[in-house]
Amino acid sequence: MKTARTVKAVSIFLLGVSLVAHATGAVAGGRHEAKHIILLIGDGMHIEHEVAASRYFYGEDFALSFHKLPYQADVATWDVTTYKHWSGGSYDPNAIDPRLGYDPDRGGKRPFPLGPELPGAQAYLTAKATDSASAATAWATGYKTDDGNIAWLPGDPEGGALKTIAEWLRAKKGFAIGVVSTVPFTHATPAAHVSHNKSRNNYHAIGAEILGSVKPEVVIGAGYPAGSSCLQPMESSYLALKTYADVCADPAYKVVTRQTGIDGGTALLQAAQEAAAQGLKLFGLFGGTAGHFESLKPYDFPGTPAVKPVSMENPTLAEASLAALKVLGQDPDGFFVAIEQGDIDWANHANDFQRMVGTTKDLHDAAQAIIDFVNQPDDEIDWDNTLLIVTSDHSNSYMRNQRVLGAGDLPKQTTTGSLPGYPDGEVTYGSTNHTNELVRLYAMGAGIQKFSRYEGKWYRGTRILDNTQLFHMMMEASGEPMPSLLKLKQGMRMN
Ligand SMILES: [Zn+2]
Repeated sequence: MKTARTVKAVSIFLLGVSLVAHATGAVAGGRHEAKHIILLIGDGMHIEHEVAASRYFYGEDFALSFHKLPYQADVATWDVTTYKHWSGGSYDPNAIDPRLGYDPDRGGKRPFPLGPELPGAQAYLTAKATDSASAATAWATGYKTDDGNIAWLPGDPEGGALKTIAEWLRAKKGFAIGVVSTVPFTHATPAAHVSHNKSRNNYHAIGAEILGSVKPEVVIGAGYPAGSSCLQPMESSYLALKTYADVCADPAYKVVTRQTGIDGGTALLQAAQEAAAQGLKLFGLFGGTAGHFESLKPYDFPGTPAVKPVSMENPTLAEASLAALKVLGQDPDGFFVAIEQGDIDWANHANDFQRMVGTTKDLHDAAQAIIDFVNQPDDEIDWDNTLLIVTSDHSNSYMRNQRVLGAGDLPKQTTTGSLPGYPDGEVTYGSTNHTNELVRLYAMGAGIQKFSRYEGKWYRGTRILDNTQLFHMMMEASGEPMPSLLKLKQGMRMN
């Protein structure tokens, strides 16, 4: 990490505030606009999953790479569908009662285990929750919407497309923009940053809009039709044949796809190198037959945490992140990138603890690779002009660590029946779906000194953030603050 800006620290020191604290803040906070915004998402990740993975790899509760980031908060993730579940069917963006979306008195002011598990919390928190489409739309546009909507207004009106943060920053600042995901690039989370649709299921239309119309500087994700290449484009449920053929023929894009027997990470980084050198955009198409990058697999070796990749033919999220940063970092105006580990969510839907630990490791490695990338000396990218946010779009599975397991120790996990079982009771699951629990947010770099003023605005007496506020926090950090168009019940416009 780079040296503190001591000039600022000295003036604060005269006010009697700890030099150490503010020196740290200066390093981590920066005083400049965020020219590089990196949003890293663990899809479906709750703090209990973070703790479980941290214990497996380090034998400690909060030892993952992103746990070191200096700004930390809790975020409410409800969408319009969840709100209507509790309001009796109404939602008025000019008179929002946030406690209908998430009630801290029922769910907690902090996510468990940071706060107590309130009586009845499980039933309340598992009753209804956002999906990934509306959650990503919230921070990508500043609007709450219905389940399934990709940057589109609730109620699916014609002309309801919402401009996304990537599009705003491209238009206002000339930023390069990118999306990276371990699940299909047309899936809800990446799609909500670079496309607009009334339904997340319209994969082919979403893919055509992303690659044929919005044309981000970087698109990396799954959706690869097995056996295909630019010499032989094929169709998958996530990608239309025409879109595949068109992007291969597009002189603006360097395209790299999964190939049998070829190391996917190496191929992707090589393609990124070439794209950067030639001033091209980058499209990386990977994934396995189940529609995602096969996750790292951890083994039950108490005392000796060990993971193995399931396939070398897919990049890790760290490799995919570095490839994206390589290309996006070429733009002197700056960049915005949303990077998603989407398999954490899929593992949690399946109540698969082992797979969840492997996918969370992939996120942890990606965060560390990004931190190391920004820390590199002798380039234009440092914490004074770069903002990294690591968060989750919603919780999932109501998993609870019932016993403290040491490093390398996995619970006994059986595979009989449709869901795994945990006969020794080290962990429990309370749902196979998304939950309305608070998620964690970790941030470092340019703009974070302004984040704390957003806390509790939607929930007086707490420090909870709302997920639509992330849009405003990132826009303000970039130097382009935008007022929220949502109004709370009292009639105040709320960032
Ligand atoms: Zn999900």
